[in-house]
Amino acid sequence: MQTVTLNNGIEMPILGFGVFQVGADETQKAVESALSAGYRLLDTAAAYGNEDAVGAAIKASGIARDELFITTKLWIQDAPAEENTTRAFDESLQKLGLDYLDLYLMHQPFGDVYGQWRAMERANKEGRARAIGVSNFAADRLIDLIVNNEIVPAVNQIETHPFKQNNDYHELLSKEGVQIESWGPFAEGKNGLFTNDVLTKIGDAHGKSVAQVVLRYLTQRQIVVIPKSVNPDRMAQNLDVFDFELTADELESIKALDTGASQFFDHADPETVRHLAARRLS
Ligand code: NAP
Repeated sequence: MQTVTLNNGIEMPILGFGVFQVGADETQKAVESALSAGYRLLDTAAAYGNEDAVGAAIKASGIARDELFITTKLWIQDAPAEENTTRAFDESLQKLGLDYLDLYLMHQPFGDVYGQWRAMERANKEGRARAIGVSNFAADRLIDLIVNNEIVPAVNQIETHPFKQNNDYHELLSKEGVQIESWGPFAEGKNGLFTNDVLTKIGDAHGKSVAQVVLRYLTQRQIVVIPKSVNPDRMAQNLDVFDFELTADELESIKALDTGASQFFDHADPETVRHLAARRLS
């Protein structure tokens, strides 16, 4: 598996497996299938409610801990945020059955971000989180976090797919030493992604599916991807994307599919902020 090197020297697989919207009851089976297919990077979150099942699958796999790259995410904490973040971190570790994480992400740019980040910095310094990063941070919030804190986030996990490519932001992130990681690489199939003419034609030229073209497009541009699938054939298909190369013309025609807009919701929309910022995990 190809890797990217994060800003603290840690190697992260460029392609992994996401488990958002995989029910707690089907997660263990899905993750076990993904691990046997060859995935080594797993992406979950406290908010997905399936960390225990991910942990059970890791344990059942028997794969050595240092061959895996495990990411989970902190949900927004009430005050005192530092203390509560440390408690939430411990809970996630316990559910996953691990004594350290490879990457711990702040899931949303809301609440007492600075208190949360200080606790994450501490977990990183103690070696309990090998890398720390953020998710859903727009450029202004990310730069503010960087200039006002000690540790620069290693990763920003943001909605990134052919219809929302974040090309300018990708450049800024690279300059700041923050690895871009795509969530929703297929836009969950929205906007007709899997039947898009441009992507289908490029796939036909390489004997690859639309999903494989999308994952190649992103990984060829050094974007980490974590596609989700509960179907073992599609899991295998989504891993098999490193034996072909998109041409400059193909890259350009996919670049032209960018709409610049979210297929889900805009984290800068006041209603989205109200909705997400008010949510607490029970
Ligand atoms: P996604 O990966 O863009 O799309 C998943 C959908 O595509 C599922 O319906 C899946 O169906 C289908 N699919 C997968 N492979 C396929 C293939 N080869 N051909 C046809 N269909 C295929 O969506 P996502 O789950 O939202 O995003 C991926 C991961 O990103 C998540 O699981 C999560 O880890 C992370 N994420 C993070 C955030 C955040 O706020 N940080 C937000 C959303 C997601 P089947 O399962 O039936 O195959």
